[in-house]
Amino acid sequence: MKKLAEVLRDWEAVIGLEVHTELTTLETKMFCNCRLSHDDPPNTNVCPVCLGMPGALPVPNERAIESIVMAGLATNCQIMRHSMFYRKHYFYPDMAKNFQTTQGPVAFCMHGHLDLEVSGPGAGERPDGTVEKGGDGSYVAPIRILRIHMEEDAAKMVHVGGEEGRITAATESLIDYNRCGTPLIELVTEPDLRTPEEARLFMEKLRQTFLTLGISDCSLESGSMRCDGNVSLRRRGSTEFGTKTEMKNINSFKSLHDALEYEICRQAEVLEEGGIVYQETRHWEPSRKRTVVMRVKETADDYRLFPDPDLAPFDLTDEFVERCRSRIPELPDAKRDRYMADYGLKRADAAQLAGDPSVASFFEEALEGADAKVVPTVANVMVNLVPSVGELTVAQVRGIAVLLAEDAVTFAQAREVAGAISGTGEDPAAYVDAHGMRQSTDEGALGAIVDEVLGRCTDQVQQYRDGNKKVLGFLVGQCMKAAKGSGNPKAFNKMLAERLEG
Ligand SMILES: [Zn+2]
Repeated sequence: MKKLAEVLRDWEAVIGLEVHTELTTLETKMFCNCRLSHDDPPNTNVCPVCLGMPGALPVPNERAIESIVMAGLATNCQIMRHSMFYRKHYFYPDMAKNFQTTQGPVAFCMHGHLDLEVSGPGAGERPDGTVEKGGDGSYVAPIRILRIHMEEDAAKMVHVGGEEGRITAATESLIDYNRCGTPLIELVTEPDLRTPEEARLFMEKLRQTFLTLGISDCSLESGSMRCDGNVSLRRRGSTEFGTKTEMKNINSFKSLHDALEYEICRQAEVLEEGGIVYQETRHWEPSRKRTVVMRVKETADDYRLFPDPDLAPFDLTDEFVERCRSRIPELPDAKRDRYMADYGLKRADAAQLAGDPSVASFFEEALEGADAKVVPTVANVMVNLVPSVGELTVAQVRGIAVLLAEDAVTFAQAREVAGAISGTGEDPAAYVDAHGMRQSTDEGALGAIVDEVLGRCTDQVQQYRDGNKKVLGFLVGQCMKAAKGSGNPKAFNKMLAERLEG
């Protein structure tokens, strides 16, 4: 198969996502008072409502409605004042009442959008001209959200015995109804994503937004956040949609990226060989790095969707919506803008720090009591050092930033120090002194070295004066060598330039 970059030169990938998020932070289920916990012994959090007993009447969880309205406001959706619940019929033991309660054509939240900041690897892969690129190839891609609707989760099924990976007559299927009736919100995007990287970034941004709202623990690993992706191809310049395939229940950002990448390349190969892409559901096999057919897709008609007669329509008041709005904390985009305005950070750095609530609070804690001059250095350490170093405390990050701001260490040394004190709680300044790493910026001591080097390297000095400014690097190196690594290269650079220009 061709590589992704090559495929995307001829073909445009049209990607949409459906994201299911369990509202795990609520105390009770969607339509009954059962405790919301998946960790309890199986089938202990159940009642006639979530077991689908005839005659049991559902009562909607108001907190769940608040959560979905907050999710809608945070993703720039229109909050629909009038909507209702529908029944989606299917037969499977994981939903004892034989229908799932969900929403119909009008969801609580409709027509929103999230803007993606695309930079780093993968940036510049969007050659359709719909977005303006910055000088570094980074761009902002607006992704429209079709809807966010409310529904309930099904029970968890475990199959034991029988043949590996297949259900046979010897298989026993166990059902845990603790999960049945868990409030679930489903977000559906418009097909606005164009690369696997954009899809991955969208999921990350959505996860960060929901985490900030505190409506879910958003764990892809444990399944409280799950994602289906669909993708089709069309020739560049074409506006018609191709036939899409869908990939179900992807449980990591990497799987989402890799599954889409594989599927785009697979479809391109099929189409270029004159074949047909079938509308089907495919399953991603991470171990074999390929997608395989699960089933040919059913149509909406198969579900016999109709309004649930047991649940009255909703009419949300302005007061209710405003109450939800007032509960929304500062979101990543607003935080990014504040970091840019208050600390003068670059957009990409500010977005990276503001994006993850735990990183943002760590950053803000590290700034407490720090001198204003140190702020950009703290941001630099957070963006360029912390992700590759592991366990550093707030005090250690602040300490490293102070050393850098004082030119007591180079960035390479800061990286070395960070690696050495990671997980130990050791003070970076104490480490630097104990290992003789502190660089002198003392003008007198360094000045003597500079004069010695200039007196010795007369050829290079002449070259510099003849216009070869690159030779400065050589002279800095000579000073560093003479200082046995304890002189600050920035200070040497400055002093050399002053003497040579003077
Ligand atoms: Zn219940």
